[in-house]
Amino acid sequence: MAYEWKFNPRPYSDEDAKKLLAKVVDAETTDWHYNTHHKGYVTALNTIEKGLETADRGAANGNYSVIGELKRRTTWNHAGTVLHDIYWDVMGGDGDPSKGPQVKAAIEKEFGSLDAWKADFKAAAVSAKLSGWGVLVYDMLYSKRLLNVLVDEHHYGAIWGGIPLIPVDVFEHAYYHKDGPKRAAYIDNFLGNLHWGRIDERFKKFAK
Ligand code: FE
Repeated sequence: MAYEWKFNPRPYSDEDAKKLLAKVVDAETTDWHYNTHHKGYVTALNTIEKGLETADRGAANGNYSVIGELKRRTTWNHAGTVLHDIYWDVMGGDGDPSKGPQVKAAIEKEFGSLDAWKADFKAAAVSAKLSGWGVLVYDMLYSKRLLNVLVDEHHYGAIWGGIPLIPVDVFEHAYYHKDGPKRAAYIDNFLGNLHWGRIDERFKKFAK
């Protein structure tokens, strides 16, 4: 039996998402992004799992093979699934960092101030490709620091052993329907909608 990847629920209903996320994304994007794009990555992962059961390992080579493409697309879809799960999880709040005291203190210690962190986070996210992410990660494996990383697509730029704490999706599908080319405005709205209580829970679970 092939492993089954899960399309995880958001911490709010589809109906509530339209209200909770209204300042960041419009109602259609909220629906399309979750129920089409995010779900699509999970569906692809499960299709890949089935393909891996029977793919010919002996046909592998450095140009093209079915097994090679299945392996290659596993990383894209896995990263897309993980980042979207967390993206929805960290949104839907009032943007008040005092509701996440432990992660707030860690950010201030690493970056000097919350504003300095925001400026660096925003710079990373604005600089990513038209399909990319800006992600606050905890570098669990190596430096034990918080880092803002620039990710092109879902995976180019990912840190090995880095736990994503705050990922902002800057694929055009995330914001163009509402904000057009104003990616920076979308990121500001995202930061103002963060649910710091849930971010603190993730931080305490993985980064302590
Ligand atoms: Fe997305």
